[in-house]
Amino acid sequence: MKLISNMRATSRKKRVGLVTILFTAVVSLIASLVFSAVVYMRDEANKIDDARANRAVTSAIRSFQTRLASTVQDNAVWDDAFKSIGSANASAWAYENWGKTSEDYPLYDVAVVLKPTGAVLSAYRKGAPFDAHSEFGNSIGELAARASASGQRAVTSFVPTTEGVYLAAAGAIQPFEDGPSQEALSTLVFAKLLTPDIVAQLDETFDIGGLRLVATPSPDKLSMPLLGNHGRSVAYLHWPSRMPGNLTFDGVYRSLLAAGTLFLIFVVAIIATAVAVIRGLQRDTVAARFKATHDSLTGLLNRAGLLDEIDVAKSSLTGQQALALIDLDGFKDVNDAWGHAIGDELIKLVANRLTKTLTHTETICRLGGDEFAFLGSANQIGICSKALVQALQEPFRIGGRTIEVGASIGTALLTSDIPDGYELLRRADMALYEAKESGRGRIVDYLGELDLQRNQRAAMEDKLRRAVENREVRPAFQPLVDAKTGSLRGVEALARWVPDTGPVSPEVFITVAERAGLIDELGRQILEMSIETASSWNDIGLSVNVSPVQLRNPEFAVVVEKVLETRGFDPSRLTLEITEGVLMSNPEQAKRSIARLKAIGVKFALDDFGCGYASIGALREFGFDRMKIDRSLVTALQEEKGAGILSATLSLAHALDIPVTAEGVETQEQANTLTACGCDQLQGYFVGKPMGAKQIEDAFLKAAA
Ligand code: C2E
Ligand code: CA
Ligand code: CA
Repeated sequence: MKLISNMRATSRKKRVGLVTILFTAVVSLIASLVFSAVVYMRDEANKIDDARANRAVTSAIRSFQTRLASTVQDNAVWDDAFKSIGSANASAWAYENWGKTSEDYPLYDVAVVLKPTGAVLSAYRKGAPFDAHSEFGNSIGELAARASASGQRAVTSFVPTTEGVYLAAAGAIQPFEDGPSQEALSTLVFAKLLTPDIVAQLDETFDIGGLRLVATPSPDKLSMPLLGNHGRSVAYLHWPSRMPGNLTFDGVYRSLLAAGTLFLIFVVAIIATAVAVIRGLQRDTVAARFKATHDSLTGLLNRAGLLDEIDVAKSSLTGQQALALIDLDGFKDVNDAWGHAIGDELIKLVANRLTKTLTHTETICRLGGDEFAFLGSANQIGICSKALVQALQEPFRIGGRTIEVGASIGTALLTSDIPDGYELLRRADMALYEAKESGRGRIVDYLGELDLQRNQRAAMEDKLRRAVENREVRPAFQPLVDAKTGSLRGVEALARWVPDTGPVSPEVFITVAERAGLIDELGRQILEMSIETASSWNDIGLSVNVSPVQLRNPEFAVVVEKVLETRGFDPSRLTLEITEGVLMSNPEQAKRSIARLKAIGVKFALDDFGCGYASIGALREFGFDRMKIDRSLVTALQEEKGAGILSATLSLAHALDIPVTAEGVETQEQANTLTACGCDQLQGYFVGKPMGAKQIEDAFLKAAA
């Protein structure tokens, strides 16, 4: 039970731990999913806006290029220009139409005309002539070559100069109508300096924000290369990313932070609760374990606790251990006489005394009821047991009462062949049983033979039980005769059991029947059978033996009455023989039964008189009708003191004025002496052995008739 409850608590702890971990994991996962979704949205928003800005810058550059390219195309593809540039005053014409214009024309700052050979025909910047080749280098020649290769379409290119970056556009000068002629053409080049103003204008027009012209872009900014001839990057426009996602993110950041903090508090609270629950369960487990292994009345270990200790002792290397089982003698009487409250108090006092008497190395426990035990070193077990028996003999004082109990002890060694605590307990229990059997205050050590004895006893009990069920135990009858005349006065019924293994002495099987709880039934059967037999024997008495165990049964008188009634047997013909033992244990119940049966005429004889210690007072109190002198006194007549003991015993009977039967009379001499001493009845082999009913009839009844 203890094991199961422990397992249950452990599995509950595990479950709480698991659920908490799982819960925390799931909630953490959800939180990180939400967070990464928000971060993803922020980055996506940033990316989308960066792409938009990229497109805007591309458009800005393209529109700038397109504008300059179409201006060049308008001026280059022009019949007048073609004609004039081919004429003698080409330079003047070029100046008039283009060079002069460059001074304050918003669309270009530079106007250059190259001859088909590549030589400069006219080159003006801001209305003033300048050295195009040294300012623009190879770029202008390459641009002119690309322009003549692309027909009427103008081409563009960014060109770095000492002054700054120019966008240059070139177109072959040609007539509008006829298409390009076969001959080599001159080229018109316009260029516009990308001033900060222009960049700012583009920035504003295309809604970019922070657009700058730079030689190399900074890595934390978005950028777009400005391409020269052959696709070479000659400069860059760069601008900062607006990162609208970050703006949004910053907006929700507070909420996220608050949510995160709340979440953290929540998780911490959950974990704290789980820890508290697990701690509680742990405490419960410890408490349940204590409860499962301890006795509530005395606080000592209980049986389960002892079994645990035995397991520990078995597996530990401390020297050999032994177990002593202690059973209080007469505890039941204390309970019966004073009630359970006093009984409980006594148990506590006994526990106290045990603890005080034993050294601290022993493990003391209460197995239940009035059974205690201690586990200790095998060397000490004998000494400890003796000390305990002595200590428990000292009277206890409870509420003004003085209560005396004693203790019987059975011990067993924890040898290596003992598989578990149950076997050790069983062995000690068997030794205890033996101790109780042999009297009060005994200590018995377990030996292998005890097992054998117990098995034999159990087998005997089984056999007897079957014999009683089948009414196989039957009475023999021994004659009781008048000491003076020798005539038959009665018979004593003596139980006989002859199983297939041969006859068993009643002294053996009556004891077995008492222990096995068969005596009530067996006694009733013997009474029934002998009454049935004796019914036909007019007048003579019938004596039947009654065990003290039977007399302790409150039903006894009723059973006897019923048997007498059923058989219509005269109660005054029946004598019940009882021994002094009855006077010792539970005399009150016996007294009640005796009184009730005496009231209907049943007589009582004190059996085995002379070998007990009953006081005259007690004998008188019970009102015996007859005494039966024990056979040992009769046998002792041969000895020196025998006669003295006999006459002392008989004078006691005479003082009480009770007639006496002599038992075990075997010789004429004994018969004479006993008769002379005042015995009025004789019984024994001299008169007749126990015999069958027919023999009684043949030998005594027919002879008398
Ligand atoms: P007990 O009541 O004292 O019975 C007398 C015993 O002495 C009988 O032994 C009897 O056979 C034996 N006996 C009689 N005369 C002589 C003699 O001259 N010499 C010798 N040596 N022995 C003699 P038994 O039958 O073996 O019975 C033994 C005891 O068993 C009885 O002692 C009685 O206490 C008990 N017992 C027998 N039958 C019953 C029964 O039905 N119920 C109960 N409760 N006890 C019974
Ligand atoms: Ca008897
Ligand atoms: Ca006797």
